[in-house]
Amino acid sequence: MKRLAILGSTGSIGTQTLDIVSRYPEIFEIEVITAFNSLELLIEQARRYKPSSVVIGNEEHYQTLRDALSDLPVKVYAGESAIEQVAAQSNIDIVVAAMVGYTGLRHVVAAIRAGRVVALANKETLVVGGEIISKLSKEYGGRIIPVDSEHSAILQCLVGESFDALEKITLTASGGPFRDFTPEQMRSVTPEMALKHPNWDMGNKITIDSASMMNKGLEVIEASWLFELPPEKIEVVIHPQSIIHSLVHFRDGSIKAQLGLPDMRLPIIYALGFPERLETTLPRFDFADYETLTFRKVDAAKFPNLSLAYAALREGGNRPCIMNAANEVAVDAFLAGKTGFMQMTGIIEEVLSGVEMISSPSLEELEESDRRARALAEIIINKTVKQ
Ligand code: MG
Repeated sequence: MKRLAILGSTGSIGTQTLDIVSRYPEIFEIEVITAFNSLELLIEQARRYKPSSVVIGNEEHYQTLRDALSDLPVKVYAGESAIEQVAAQSNIDIVVAAMVGYTGLRHVVAAIRAGRVVALANKETLVVGGEIISKLSKEYGGRIIPVDSEHSAILQCLVGESFDALEKITLTASGGPFRDFTPEQMRSVTPEMALKHPNWDMGNKITIDSASMMNKGLEVIEASWLFELPPEKIEVVIHPQSIIHSLVHFRDGSIKAQLGLPDMRLPIIYALGFPERLETTLPRFDFADYETLTFRKVDAAKFPNLSLAYAALREGGNRPCIMNAANEVAVDAFLAGKTGFMQMTGIIEEVLSGVEMISSPSLEELEESDRRARALAEIIINKTVKQ
């Protein structure tokens, strides 16, 4: 039996994880579920999946949650530090890190320090704290298995290969809903347009990041930490059908790719079953539905966020943290109608030049950089006119 703690159980990845693991009651046991604010869904999940502990991040909801579950033999906790504690609990085998944005960093650090396996869906964690997490993982033996589809693909291609044989990797990107737009058309993009992803059904933050290619930028940084690769060994190609999830190039000139329908439940179940492959009844690929698979280069002028992410990775230190914080604030502002789609990059650039660089930041310094970047992003958004 593998005992799971699902952090962020009410989000897109969290609900899909519960859906898929509940089909294997003889393999997985859901021990802990946590959410930050989604009280009603958390209550429903606690009743349906019967975990031994439930945590709500926002302490204001504690009493309501406890009362709603008072007839069940379940422990109820509240607060961010309670999530950290359950992530490190000894009765957990795998921590599924599926919370949205930067908030997951401390929880993942706690799980790695406790030597847990972390199935990581929250890429911001590695973007911000990659250096610290890599160090802790070597020191305490905690291990990260990627849930992100591209990184899962790379891992699947690397199984059985020696690291020395690897030449470079290619991350595929769908190009999002605007891959065929002109830069002119992209200036008038609305949140409704950006929230319609052609292939993947995901949460709001990541869907906007996909449309702006910041998601791919974050994934380049994530891949660099996961597979210990420098930026020049990671490339990105647009593949509109999202069937090839990523590729590994080897020193003999051979390339391995991992393919499948775009369904997040696949990388989730691979990460949780790893190194085994579990049998699933998920929809199967049919060649008749995909006569052609196509590829094209990324237009850097249309997607400047990708270059920003490569630069932040090269500079290192707290630069990816600053970029990520500015992006989270910019995405919120865009969704709230406070800034234009193409203005998000300018906001991030301005924040990057306004927050001091720290080359090897501690967790506290990262938190301080994150706070500063967010505050500066708010100021910039309030003083710029929406276009
Ligand atoms: Mg991905």
